[in-house]
Amino acid sequence: MTIAVYPGSFDPVTNGHLDIVTRASRLFDSVIMAVFDRPNKNLLFSTAERVALLEEATRDLPRVKIDTYSMLTVDYVRSVGASIIVRGLRDPRDFEHEFQMAQIHQTLDPQIDVVFFMAGHQYTFFSSSTVREIAALGGDVSWLVPPHIVAALQRAYQKTSDE
Ligand code: ADP
Repeated sequence: MTIAVYPGSFDPVTNGHLDIVTRASRLFDSVIMAVFDRPNKNLLFSTAERVALLEEATRDLPRVKIDTYSMLTVDYVRSVGASIIVRGLRDPRDFEHEFQMAQIHQTLDPQIDVVFFMAGHQYTFFSSSTVREIAALGGDVSWLVPPHIVAALQRAYQKTSDE
């Protein structure tokens, strides 16, 4: 049984992430989308919200599970009996960052391999932060994220503007 971990902030999950996890779940028996609890980023959604949004988004993917973690990624990967980290690559900028991260993971635990999926061409130009920026200004993001994420973004920015 090959278990892979797809770690990330997923703030919120986008169609780009879902494309990667759908393709990874065709290759591995089980893929855990692991929400990093405390990334060095300003988050819009809490960890519980990011998990709930991911659970809804992956309901039709039986091999995909959702979890959270707050330790070193390689320690988490080992703790769930996995030996593969899945990441997506959109462009050379991603590559530079991901190359460095993969080497760090490999140095910390040589038993763990990082497997990269090239983003589908329709997903290469956006990230969760692009989605948040468009949604914050009232733009349409329904072509970038599933419908329940559109609704969650609307609620989140409505709350912010009410405060
Ligand atoms: P992190 O904070 O760990 O970078 P993200 O949620 O931003 O978390 O991204 C997680 C992974 O998903 C990264 O490997 C990133 O390159 C990939 N990714 C992000 N957006 C897309 C997209 N639109 N298409 C494909 N992969 C993506």
